[in-house]
Amino acid sequence: MAAAALLLAASSVVAQSRPADSTARARECPSCAEWNAPHAPFRVFGNTYYVGTNGLGAILITSTSGHVLIDGALPESAPLIIANIRALGFRIEDVKLILNSHAHYDHAGGIADLQRASGGEVAATAWSASVMEHGTSGNDDPQFGILIPYPTVRSARRITEGQAMHVGTLTVTPHLTAGHTPGGATWTWRSCEGESCADIVYADSQTPVSADGFLFSKSASYPMAVADFEHGFKVLESLRCDILLTPHPSASNLWERLSVRDKGDARGLFSASGCKDYAADARRRLAERLARERAR
Ligand SMILES: [Zn+2]
Repeated sequence: MAAAALLLAASSVVAQSRPADSTARARECPSCAEWNAPHAPFRVFGNTYYVGTNGLGAILITSTSGHVLIDGALPESAPLIIANIRALGFRIEDVKLILNSHAHYDHAGGIADLQRASGGEVAATAWSASVMEHGTSGNDDPQFGILIPYPTVRSARRITEGQAMHVGTLTVTPHLTAGHTPGGATWTWRSCEGESCADIVYADSQTPVSADGFLFSKSASYPMAVADFEHGFKVLESLRCDILLTPHPSASNLWERLSVRDKGDARGLFSASGCKDYAADARRRLAERLARERAR
């Protein structure tokens, strides 16, 4: 009887905890519910697919010998990403490698669950790998103090700039584009449809966002912040970039470009100046931020 009563008590706690949890989550992360709104998965080009949510990118690159997944969005996004992969006719168990843009909760939060579900290896820059293993950033992160902790990945392989990653016939190359965090990475690869090929760039966030009190122009904990941004801008300007994808799809007008394609323009997702425009916009934001810091 006592055990049954305990079970009943436990199940009513579970039943009651759901609305309380979502209220707590909304308080902790007012944007998360909107970011996590589902989005139907779709083919970007060739073997590249969008499997993220409406507000957060996740990219699947497929091959007959295993797939690569870039980013895991929020912890609560993992089931949506898995369902999107399945809806396209692929299996999460065939994801052999999970990569990351930057190790904040809205891009790395779902990776622990995706790693468990796939059995794949996680790889990221040394800084991002360490953050993912701890589930939280140190004080060299400009947003230290206002970030939400997330489930830790079991272990992550450390990659270095330009060190190509391979799964079967797939090759995906990292480029350091830090500044938003000290470990931000942009990933590039080539996808083909018959004779037609596209250089695809998943460019990391470039916004100079910080906790109160952090100065990009003068930080003892992240003294390379401005130099890292500048390096990343040069990288983004130099990449072969037919199709630009970003961890926040809105940052590269993905939905507007998709609607152009949906209306019949097969090259609606392509943009000759996508990466250069993205870098130029980031340069302008950083300059504005540094001007504000000087005016303090
Ligand atoms: Zn971020």
